[in-house]
Amino acid sequence: MKAHLPIDKRIRTGEKRENTNALILHWAAGQPKQTAHGIRYWQITSAQKGSYNYIVDNDGPLETIPPQECAHHSGTLKQYRKVAQEIGIPPYKHSIGILFCQQDIEGNPGEIIYNHLVQLCTTLCLQFYLSYHQIYRHHDITGKVCPRWFVNHPDEWLLFIDKVKEEVIRQDLYERFHTRTWYNGY
Ligand SMILES: [Zn+2]
Repeated sequence: MKAHLPIDKRIRTGEKRENTNALILHWAAGQPKQTAHGIRYWQITSAQKGSYNYIVDNDGPLETIPPQECAHHSGTLKQYRKVAQEIGIPPYKHSIGILFCQQDIEGNPGEIIYNHLVQLCTTLCLQFYLSYHQIYRHHDITGKVCPRWFVNHPDEWLLFIDKVKEEVIRQDLYERFHTRTWYNGY
């Protein structure tokens, strides 16, 4: 689903990215069980400056900024970790920002949102030719405890990356098989 934010100087400048080197995940710090539309509304009506390309809740991903445009996430004035150099400085100009809602204070996304996240990351990896190595936690960029669940459970993070990897391979093969690109040139 799409519900794009209005273009303004604060949360959506409309600037297009020159390259896409990463997917960066965030949690919806604050109350559990928020909705994507609720967060979008809050972004518009509050004075805060954070924005994301996608907000994921139980209904799936809500695209609030087109994936080719810069969203304002992963900081601008903080000390970046070394990995940020590989992505590009500032990282938000070289990455797609994804925020997911959580079920509890620990930040657990729950099974439904987890599965939506796997699918969204898979789709974006295939669309932007990204490897599963290019999926990051906000934490990897700035050291912030975000998304809390995957920072406090690093084993769960590795498992998540593995799931995306499996799904990218499965869908990529499926795509090739069904579009018969293997037969190109014959
Ligand atoms: Zn974050």
